[in-house]
Amino acid sequence: MKLILLGAPGAGKGTVAKLLTKMDGSVQISTGDILRGAVQAGSDLGKQAEAFMKAGDLVPDELIMGIMEKRLQDPDCAKGFLLDGFPRTIPQAEALNDLLDRIGIKLDMAVNIDVPRDVILDRLTTRRTCSNTDCQAIYNVKSNPPKQEGICDKCGSPVIQREDETEEAISHRLETYNEKTAPLIGFYDKQGLLMTVTATDSNDVIEAVKAKLES
Ligand code: AMP
Repeated sequence: MKLILLGAPGAGKGTVAKLLTKMDGSVQISTGDILRGAVQAGSDLGKQAEAFMKAGDLVPDELIMGIMEKRLQDPDCAKGFLLDGFPRTIPQAEALNDLLDRIGIKLDMAVNIDVPRDVILDRLTTRRTCSNTDCQAIYNVKSNPPKQEGICDKCGSPVIQREDETEEAISHRLETYNEKTAPLIGFYDKQGLLMTVTATDSNDVIEAVKAKLES
C-alpha cells in the first residue's frame, strides 16, 4: 500500500504506520525519525535541521525534499510505503506529486487521523521515546510504560522525553500544525484521496484503513 498518514503530532501516525507495515511489507518512512537520526549522527543534514526541530519549527522544504527524493526510490519502497510526518506543507505535497509522477508511482490514499486536542496534549506530555535512533520505540508513562523504568524493552537503551516535547515546544508544534499542515486535508480531499478516521485507538484506524483498501 502507498499511503500518506496525516494528523497532528501525537495523533498516532507512527503507531498506525508500524501496525500497517506488518500487513504487506510496506515500509514506514518517518521524516522525524530520519531527522533525529541525522542530528544524533552529527551529519550536515542534522546540523542544518537541529535548531528548527528543537524549537518545534518545521525544517525547510528543500531539506525534506532532498531526503524524500532519494528515500522513495530505495528498493524497499517497491512493495509500498507509509509516509509518517511527510508531507507537512502544501509546497511539500506539490513537490511529492511531481516526484511521484516522475517515478511513476500512484498513491492509494491520504489517511487523516483525527484525535481531539485534549487527548493529543495528554499523549505528547506523557510520551517517551527510545534514545537509540535505530529503534525510536514509543512508550507512554501512563498507558504503555517500559517494563523496566527508563529502559527500552526492545533494545535496552535509555528511554527519554524528546527535547521538542516540553510544554512550550508542544504548543508551538500544534500551532505550526494548524497553520502549515492542516491545509493538506483540503489538498488531498480535492484530489479525491482523503479518508478521515476519527479514532483514538490505533487498532480502529487500522480496521478502517483495511476496510477502505478492500472496498
Ligand atoms: P515528528 O517526529 O514527525 O513529530 O517530527 C519532529 C520534527 O522534525 C518536527 O517538529 C519538525 O521540526 C521536523 N520534521 C519532521 N518531518 C518534517 C517535514 N515533513 N517537514 C518539515 N519538518 C519536519
